[in-house]
Amino acid sequence: MSGSLERRAAAALLNPWQSPAAASEGLPVIVRGEGSFVVDAAGRRLLDAVSGYWCSSLGHGRRDVIERMRVQLETLSYAPLESRAHAPAVELAERLLAMAPWGPSRVFFCSGGSEGIDWSVRAARAYWRTKGEPERLYILRRAGAYHGATLAASSLGGFPEFREADALTATVEVCAAGCCGCAQGAHAAACGEACAAAIEAAVSRLGPRRVAAFVAEPISTPGGIRVPPPGYWPAVQAVLDRHKILLILDEVVTGVGRTGRWFAAERLGIRPDLLVLAKGLSAGYAPLGAVLLSRRVGEGLASCWLPGFTFGGHPAACAAALAVLDAVDPLLERVDRLGARLEAEFRGLAAGSRALGPPQGLGLLWCLPFREGRASPAGIRGALESAGVLAYVMDGGILLAPPLTLSDEELAFLIGTLRAAVGAS
Ligand code: PLP
Repeated sequence: MSGSLERRAAAALLNPWQSPAAASEGLPVIVRGEGSFVVDAAGRRLLDAVSGYWCSSLGHGRRDVIERMRVQLETLSYAPLESRAHAPAVELAERLLAMAPWGPSRVFFCSGGSEGIDWSVRAARAYWRTKGEPERLYILRRAGAYHGATLAASSLGGFPEFREADALTATVEVCAAGCCGCAQGAHAAACGEACAAAIEAAVSRLGPRRVAAFVAEPISTPGGIRVPPPGYWPAVQAVLDRHKILLILDEVVTGVGRTGRWFAAERLGIRPDLLVLAKGLSAGYAPLGAVLLSRRVGEGLASCWLPGFTFGGHPAACAAALAVLDAVDPLLERVDRLGARLEAEFRGLAAGSRALGPPQGLGLLWCLPFREGRASPAGIRGALESAGVLAYVMDGGILLAPPLTLSDEELAFLIGTLRAAVGAS
């Protein structure tokens, strides 16, 4: 493979999450996208069943998105959002606000999820300064979370190795839904109350007037897809409301249709103060992130002087997002139906396989967990890719998040390939 694109990639790039083995084997290189499929440098055509890690929710080569970006670039290729605005940012902000049933009042644009989380932490602390409570600095974060790669976002995540530098001080870990204090297991009704009680205890220990915000995904995605039990969010929201703690909701993965609603917050009845979108917002056509601010935070920060990002809300990225919203709107009901079909298929798959436990997920966001010691993740990954499916196979299971546009034939291909790869009967 000497001189191949794969070897050149391994030699020239320092990529995130790259395994040391890549240095000798070369890196897989994607050269083309065709709808739900990507083609790699070796010529393999693969169904992208994770949408490029939750980004390409409309697949590749969408003329509607590309055309809207082209027109925007020809009209205005760039304008900053520093103390001024441009039309696609205004239009997109108004559109996002109108879609959100909990009544947010303003939108801040950035270039991705980490920036959105990072900025939200700053905004939460700034909000409390405007309210005369500057000692509200603490951010409650959940065990096992992932909120991005900037210093502040990784300080809120579950990887201790990335928290070491701990650029962001004053964070406190609380449990994630389904992992603490719940004797009956992850999906038992009592779990939500146990988690809420643990959050309440952490708040009491710190002193309620020292806590600025709680940051969480509505449905957690690292290491598996954990849909919290129905009691979780109402119980947690009650604790936050009681102590006026702001909720930073990370919808980088779950937002813009992935769960069959515009927002998982809508689906689960959550009222966030700062809701972070990225990935699916521009469906991977351009880097974009957005933070939707609740009325109290939007009004509180209106008189604040806050920094922003040069490429935040780039005109072409906003144009892409406007086209994405047009395209996703008629798909939401279908995502619901496809999600129900996938659930039934995955349950059947798990029932016929020694390797798989019960599937976890919602909409088009799923994990097929491995039964301990019963599966070879590397073998399953290899079998899937040889048969033409790109999935995110981790030690704990197979993560799947196909494009929202997945056709019936593609769904059948995905299920058939999974069945063969996990050796299901
Ligand atoms: N939050 C979640 C839940 C994510 O999965 C990610 C990225 O995978 C991020 C935040 C960070 O987003 P970005 O990579 O766009 O900075």
